[in-house]
Parts: sequence; structure tokens; C-alpha cells
Amino acid sequence: MKRTILVIEDNEHNRYLVTFLLEQHGYRVRSETDGRRGIEAARAEVPDLILLDIQLPGMDGYAVAQALRGHPELRTIPIVAVTSYAMPGDRERALAAGCTGYIEKPIDTETFVVALAAALGPDAAGGG
Ligand code: MN
Repeated sequence: MKRTILVIEDNEHNRYLVTFLLEQHGYRVRSETDGRRGIEAARAEVPDLILLDIQLPGMDGYAVAQALRGHPELRTIPIVAVTSYAMPGDRERALAAGCTGYIEKPIDTETFVVALAAALGPDAAGGG
């Protein structure tokens, strides 16, 4: 059973890039372009990990993370924030909002999948 990653990202280029990298490594990817749709998608089918862009139109990533954590079924799902700037304040804010980790834009194609695999943790089911 492939593990599923829900990508919440408004930027088409970044969405394409992370989807490509993750699918290439055997993950199943679903994506949404804004926070409200992302929350609905996460509730409709709980993913193994949520990759959450912080700079989203309307509801920003901090608000989305807090809302996700408000649903019991989503309380323990790893949420990895994607921040645009290497600013410690952004990281702290993302963690305070309920994210379990963060990566920075631009996406580093060398380390991205390794970072997400680490956030996912060991796969008890033995799959992708
Ligand atoms: Mn964005």
C-alpha cells in the first residue's frame, strides 16, 4: 500500500515539482490549491502526511495547520510546513501552529524526499 501525501500548495510550479519527486519515489500524491479545500480533502481521506505551504491565498498555512489539528482524526498526522524564507520566526510560528517540521523554498530536490521520509517515520505496513 503506497503511502499518501496531501500537498496543499497554490503555486503550480512547486505543486508539480513536489508531486513529481514524491511519485518518483513511490508515494501517492493528492493536491489542493488552498487551505479550505486542503482541510476538506484531509478529512475526507486522512493522508499519511500533509505538506503545507505557508503562503496560501486567503487562509494562510498557520491557520490551516491550526484548523487541521482541531480535527481529532488529524491530530497526529505529520504536517510539514513549506516556508519561503529562512527566518527562525517563521519556523517557530509553524511549529506553534501545529506543524511537526518545515522545509524551505526553493525546494532542494536532493534532500526533499529524504526530509519527508524522515517526517513520515518508519512504515509499519512495510509499503512504499
Ligand atoms: Mn504559496
